[in-house]
Amino acid sequence: MNMQEYIEQAEKDLLHTYNRYQIVLDKGDGVYLYDMDGKKYLDFCAGIAVFALGYHNEEYNNALKEQIDKLIHTSNYYYNVPAIEAARKLKAASGMDRVFFTNSGAEAVEGAIKAARKYAYLKDGCTDHEIIAMNHSFHGRTMGALSVTGTPKYREAFEPMIGHIKFAEMNDFDSVVACVTDKTCAIILETVQGEGGLLPAKEDFLKKVRALCDEKDILLILDEIQCGMGRTGYMYAWQKYGVKPDIMTSAKALGCGVPVGAFLMTEKVAAQSLVAGDHGTTYGGNPLAAAAVEKVLDLFETNHIIEHVREVAPYLEQRLEEMAQKYDCITERRGTGLMQGLVFDVPVANVINKALEKGLILINAGANIIRFVPPLIITRDNIDEMIAILDDCIAK
Ligand SMILES: *Cc1c(COP(=O)(O)O)cnc(C)c1O
Repeated sequence: MNMQEYIEQAEKDLLHTYNRYQIVLDKGDGVYLYDMDGKKYLDFCAGIAVFALGYHNEEYNNALKEQIDKLIHTSNYYYNVPAIEAARKLKAASGMDRVFFTNSGAEAVEGAIKAARKYAYLKDGCTDHEIIAMNHSFHGRTMGALSVTGTPKYREAFEPMIGHIKFAEMNDFDSVVACVTDKTCAIILETVQGEGGLLPAKEDFLKKVRALCDEKDILLILDEIQCGMGRTGYMYAWQKYGVKPDIMTSAKALGCGVPVGAFLMTEKVAAQSLVAGDHGTTYGGNPLAAAAVEKVLDLFETNHIIEHVREVAPYLEQRLEEMAQKYDCITERRGTGLMQGLVFDVPVANVINKALEKGLILINAGANIIRFVPPLIITRDNIDEMIAILDDCIAK
């Protein structure tokens, strides 16, 4: 079958939950992807902030191949060395104390919510605890994660959500305070909002929320699924501010393409929340997924990924800032590190489609924002190449 025939077949067989771009991707190399016809694309999406190390990374691929030949799956009733090593390295990278591996970001959020509810339940025996989340947040599509996702249109058809969720405004501390009651067990937020519009939490806001949580023994859950893993120039975005969460979620770039996520907690929470029988997953942290995490964390160190992001991200920011100055239809540049957005006063679908024709993969965040979340190995030359295509597309 040719590319068009495959697309038609997909539209007959797959549930239509995505309006997909009309290409079938076939292989990748570094920061470039190739479709079935061999057309080359510069990738500024990275599988939505996933493929941090670039495609066809030989060391990463070999680690996976070796693990496939040894053991792919056991179950969590037994120990396996990759999961033990991956947990140790993830603890070192995050400064958290305990790790639970999941299969996706949404599942990491589910686990975080369960841990927070259990922590509160063990304190007072009540089952009516509340969670505060942020407007415009995104935490995933499963029912629990959806319940704390601050975009009503994602939730509406699937009501009722899990109960006792209140929404505050990101970077508006008073709006958070207004939601607090003696039933509040957790506050969940993305350190940098991703889907909701590339909006970083302000340092002052985070510090005040942390202090509020400390004062009232409320657990702070930071969702680092998109902004974590080096993307902001820190392994986890909160490390820039030293505002440590009680529970943290990670996924997307954690396995660099192998489906894996994690929620992590401090010893304080671990000692007073989930125990044997409370939570589980068949696949979570299986040897193949854990081997990916382990190798990714190794490669972050040996390839100096964080240092590279710190070097190259200001250049991306500068070039995007120039675009924002140049065009009236761009109202704002937003974001931090290699997690950037251009806010337009019109829908961006046309620009993204034109870019795709010209061999540049971009994604949106909401109708009016173009999101830039490239592989972390992106170079200045790649950025220049991207800007040249983008400039051309906007000019038209
Ligand atoms: C993508 C994302 C999720 C959901 O992760 P999935 O792996 O798609 O379930 C949750 N939170 C944030 C911040 C995300 O960007």
